[in-house]
Amino acid sequence: MNSLKYLRKTEFGRIILTTFYRLSIVLFVRLAQNLEIRKSATMEEKNKSSQPDIFYKVDVVVIGAGQAGLSAAYYLKKAGLEPGRGFVVLDDEFGPGGAWQHRWNSLTLSTVNGINDLPGMSFSEAVDTNDADLQANVAIPQYYEKYEKTFQLPVIRPVRVHEVSERNGRFFIRTNGVQFSARGLVNATGTWKTPRCPHYPGWEKFRGRQLHTAEYKNASEFRGMHVLIVGGGISAIQLLGEISELTRTTWVTRRAPAFRNYEFTPERGREAVALVEQRVREGLPPESVVSVTGLPLTPYIRRLMDNGILDRKPMFKEITETGVKWADGSTLEVDVIFWNTGFTHSLDHLAPLNLKNEKGGITMTGKLATQVAKDPRIHLTGYGPTASTIGANRAGRVAVRELLAALKA
Ligand SMILES: Cc1cc2nc3c(=O)[nH]c(=O)nc-3n(C[C@H](O)[C@H](O)[C@H](O)COP(=O)(O)OP(=O)(O)OC[C@H]3O[C@@H](n4cnc5c(N)ncnc54)[C@H](O)[C@@H]3O)c2cc1C
Repeated sequence: MNSLKYLRKTEFGRIILTTFYRLSIVLFVRLAQNLEIRKSATMEEKNKSSQPDIFYKVDVVVIGAGQAGLSAAYYLKKAGLEPGRGFVVLDDEFGPGGAWQHRWNSLTLSTVNGINDLPGMSFSEAVDTNDADLQANVAIPQYYEKYEKTFQLPVIRPVRVHEVSERNGRFFIRTNGVQFSARGLVNATGTWKTPRCPHYPGWEKFRGRQLHTAEYKNASEFRGMHVLIVGGGISAIQLLGEISELTRTTWVTRRAPAFRNYEFTPERGREAVALVEQRVREGLPPESVVSVTGLPLTPYIRRLMDNGILDRKPMFKEITETGVKWADGSTLEVDVIFWNTGFTHSLDHLAPLNLKNEKGGITMTGKLATQVAKDPRIHLTGYGPTASTIGANRAGRVAVRELLAALKA
C-alpha cells in the first residue's frame, strides 16, 4: 500500500500507474472478446470434463483433419478467416494423416481406389506417386503433413471432441482439452473411429481372437491359423485374398455378394454417388457405395474366384467357444473371426444437437448435400455422397461457401 501511495505522489509514478491501468483494461477487453466464461454450467456438464468452463471463441470449428477437414480448412483460410481466431481444426490423432495412418500395410498406391489431390497442392508434390509399392499409411500422412505446414492450417491435436451443444446461437464444443465456442461447424470426422460390428449370440464365449478391419495390419500374424472372414464388401474380399495366400480361410456373408460384370468407370462412380446423395436428401441414413453398385468383377476378383477362394457360405447363427454354428446345426472350428463389416459415420458427439430425424438419418441439403437442413450453420463433409477423397475435396469448397453465407445472413 505504501509503494502505491508513493507512486501516486510522483509524476513518474502516476505515468506508470496510468499505463498499468490502461493495459489492464485492454487486456480485460481482449479476454472478454475471446473467452466466454460460463458460470452456470450444471454439475452434470462439469462431471463430463475436468476442464474449466472457459470457451475460446472462434467463428468456425472444423472437427477432423482428414481429407474433408483439410479441404474445408483450406477454403476457410482462402475466404479470409484468420487461422486461430477465425477458425481452428480439431483432430484427435497424434499426427497428420486422418484415418489413412491406420490402414493396413498392404494397401499401397497401386491397390488404393485412387487418392484425389487436396486443393492447392498435388499429391505428387509431397510423395513419389510413381512408387506403386509405397504404403498408403505412409504416403498420405506425409502428404497431409506437408499440406498443413505449407498452408499453415491451425490444426490442434490431439483434441478429441466429446460433445457439441448449442445455446444462444453459438455451438459449444467440449473436448478432452481446451473448450471452444463457434458460430459455425464443419464436421469432418470420417468413419474409422466407429467400426460396425454386428452382435451374434455367443460372442463372449469365443476363446480365439476377434478383430475388425480397423485393427488389421498384415496377414503374417495369422500364419497357421484358420481365419473366418465375415463381410461382403471390397475390404473383406481384398483381405480374404491376401490372408488366403498364407493360411486357411472361410468366407461368410449375410447376403450373396452381387458381383457385376462392369468396369468401375467415373460415370458409374457418379451414378452411385447420386444414389447415396438422394438418400441423405430424403433424410435416410447413407449407405456404402458398394451397397448401391454391387462389386465390380475386377481381374483380381476373377482370379480369386478361379482359385476357389470366393467360396461364400451363409452367415452363421451363433458363435461357440471354438468357432461358429449355422442354423442347420453344422459347426466350424476357427482360430480367428475377422469382422469386415464396415463402418458408420462418427457423429456421436453431435447427439445433443438432435440432428437425426424419425427415419434415423440426418436430412441434408445444399449443393452437394453437405448442409444440415435443420441447421444451415452445420456442414457434414466426407459424409454420405462426399465420403471419398474426391467428394471430400469438393465438399470443403462448397460447404465453406454455403456456411459463410449462412453465418452472414
Ligand atoms: C479401407 C478403406 C479404404 C478406402 N480407400 C479409399 C480410396 O482409395 N480412395 C478414396 O477416395 N476413398 C477411400 N476410402 C474412403 C475414405 O475414407 C475417404 O476417401 C477419405 O479419406 C475420408 O476422409 P475424411 O476426412 O472424411 O475422414 P478421415 O480420414 O477418417 O478423417 C477424420 C479425422 O477426424 C478425426 N476424428 C474423428 N472423430 C473425432 C472427434 N470426435 N474429435 C476429434 N477428431 C475426430 C479422426 O481421427 C480423423 O483424423 C476408403 C475408406 C476405407 C474405410
